[in-house]
Amino acid sequence: HLDRIAEVDDAVHAFLHVDAEGARAAARAVDADLDAGRPPASPLAGVPLALKDVFATKDMPTTCGSRTLESWRPPYDATVTRRLREAGVVILGKTNMDEFAMGSSTENSAFGPTHNPWDHARIPGGSGGGSSASLAAFEAALAVGTDTGGSIRQPGAVTGTVGVKPTYGGVSRYGLVAFSSSLDQGGPCARTVLDAALLHEVIAGHDPLDSTSIDAPVPPVVAAAREGAAGDLSGVRVGVVRELSGHAASAGRSASAGGDGYQPGVLRSFEAAVEQLRALGAEVVEVSCPHFTYALPAYYLIAPSECSSNLARFDAMRYGLRVGDDGTRSAEEVMSLTREAGFGAEVKRRIMLGTYALSSGYYDAYYGSAQKVRTLIRQDFDAAFERVDVLVSPTTPTTAFKIGERVDDPMAMYLADLCTIPANLAGNAAMSVPSGLADEDGLPVGLQIMVPALADDRLYRVGAAYE
Ligand code: GLN
Repeated sequence: HLDRIAEVDDAVHAFLHVDAEGARAAARAVDADLDAGRPPASPLAGVPLALKDVFATKDMPTTCGSRTLESWRPPYDATVTRRLREAGVVILGKTNMDEFAMGSSTENSAFGPTHNPWDHARIPGGSGGGSSASLAAFEAALAVGTDTGGSIRQPGAVTGTVGVKPTYGGVSRYGLVAFSSSLDQGGPCARTVLDAALLHEVIAGHDPLDSTSIDAPVPPVVAAAREGAAGDLSGVRVGVVRELSGHAASAGRSASAGGDGYQPGVLRSFEAAVEQLRALGAEVVEVSCPHFTYALPAYYLIAPSECSSNLARFDAMRYGLRVGDDGTRSAEEVMSLTREAGFGAEVKRRIMLGTYALSSGYYDAYYGSAQKVRTLIRQDFDAAFERVDVLVSPTTPTTAFKIGERVDDPMAMYLADLCTIPANLAGNAAMSVPSGLADEDGLPVGLQIMVPALADDRLYRVGAAYE
């Protein structure tokens, strides 16, 4: 894998940092165990993995794709990092991402974009474009990402790989640099559903260091993936979400949702996927989740609000970059100069939006309303899951777009997450599994599967049957 990285990563730019020495040492330690006749620490011992640069690593930089943290070295490992090491997983390095995980294309990285291995002129999705691209380019066997509004599933879809957002609270956020704390969730990226399940079981599980970590057994995702591989979905009820399958535009809802943004080839691929689920024995019905139409606007109030609060910690005193501290300026001036130089345009846009939405006089109208919409979306899910076991939709409205195409149009960029955001707002689990290529451009399409909170195993059963 290190050779492969040396060969292709100049062109792909999936990695921000490669730790060849550390990786070799970790691999040698696994070999030593095996040579001594000790059992491997986990089924993934010795498997090379790419880690999104948002997880703290004490022996590697953790930049979050930002100039602000370029010089920061965490004094500790994130729980996810620690669990990977304890499982004998070989961490190859840290992958590129949109700055602080804000974006859908990895173009917001301060260190330059990642290129989609299928077509280097196109985006690999975001914010975790580096993690998914590293898999599609065969630079890593596994990767870890984070999904606040789609940043594992959307890059998975557009690179033809698997991406899972576990149930909120399923994977510890300790040492994961916070963007939007009530939405952020780490999860596995892989080339197959079973690989993702094996990684899921390594990184998931209760962590007393994260107050939102769920204190319950990890759903049996590996067993479910193996069961699903038999390809029998009889007895499984699948709901096609009307509002996420290009059918809602006629209802004349918000311009930000509905059918208009869907690429015809993506919808054709989705229809074929639904037919395949039926052929595997599933019972398919259409389900309406009327408030999903408002998920995108609600998300773009809640996520920036939490971001504006979380990113206040980058005050030029505690972490990384400090600009203008020449003895003549006040702490406030240094803070202001540092934030001006350290944050990119999208991060500043979100901080301003969030600060506005949370300000006195506007809080109820914006943040308060968005939280109410969030509850309505959760109720839509609850009602749907009374009738069906899993919900499906396309993962993204379009295949990978061209680098540069949407950088000047934040709304167009935000639309990439139209289908993925509802699961984040409700906190339930969802997966993107490769669903072939769109007929008009030959680029990968993803099928999104959504399940209730704590039913992550169901994702793996259906995903493995489908893939
Ligand atoms: N693209 C979405 C955003 O920009 C989601 C990001 C994410 O999941 N980290 O906020």
